[in-house]
Amino acid sequence: MMKRKPLIAGNWKMNTSLEKARELATEIKGMVLDEVNGNVEIILIPPFTHLSTVNGLLSGSNIKTGAQNCSQFYDGAYTGEISAAMLQSLKVGSVLVGHSERRQYFGETNQILAEKVKRALEAGLTLIFCCGEMLSDRESEKHFEVVKTQLDEGLFHIAEANLGKIVIAYEPVWAIGTGRTASASQAQEMHAFIRRLVIDHYSERAGKEMRILYGGSVKSGNAKELFSCEDIDGGLIGGAALESRGFTDIVKAAL
Ligand code: PEP
Repeated sequence: MMKRKPLIAGNWKMNTSLEKARELATEIKGMVLDEVNGNVEIILIPPFTHLSTVNGLLSGSNIKTGAQNCSQFYDGAYTGEISAAMLQSLKVGSVLVGHSERRQYFGETNQILAEKVKRALEAGLTLIFCCGEMLSDRESEKHFEVVKTQLDEGLFHIAEANLGKIVIAYEPVWAIGTGRTASASQAQEMHAFIRRLVIDHYSERAGKEMRILYGGSVKSGNAKELFSCEDIDGGLIGGAALESRGFTDIVKAAL
């Protein structure tokens, strides 16, 4: 089978002062330069306010930056919003779309996310599209259906030619920030399901090439087992991305 390049993305959420962001990015850059030489892509996703600084600090390494969100609108009277084109102008390469915290606390529906996906692609960004069920969905055995709807309504409107710009992140909401990780077999089962959806909607090749990350309480101690699953192509890391040693160890687990 074709080997997909693993990707580890660290989502800092609404954490870090500018000073702390500098420190963290500098430490991670140093550790990665010293310890990681292999086929793995790394993206740091700081708050918007730190993107420019972190981008500058990472020059000379192959670590890239991403943003945590972008607006569904182009530009204009949308106070407080950040457009995909603004991110592109900062030389930020990617953006998270549909993180469960955006869906839960900021009312982002699949329809809004579909618009964000379009804006991000139009601006030439790569996007990490997040999906995942709530605990109640899993308990009522609706998890496959929920994830399918999120992808059908939020992502699968795009043309196959754009799929090279897409990474899917499966993040069961009950595993985010809770310390409760999906077991490797639960994660693998959903990743295989998602890959099948991509194949059915697009093509065999599209499905085989799509990178699907797992997110939800990934730590250096459980990363290896998760990343060794056939359909898991890396991770979207929250809490553990705020600590340079642990994050770099997670990157190494993907090699
Ligand atoms: C996330 O925010 O995408 C995430 C997976 O968080 P954590 O690793 O803290 O569960």
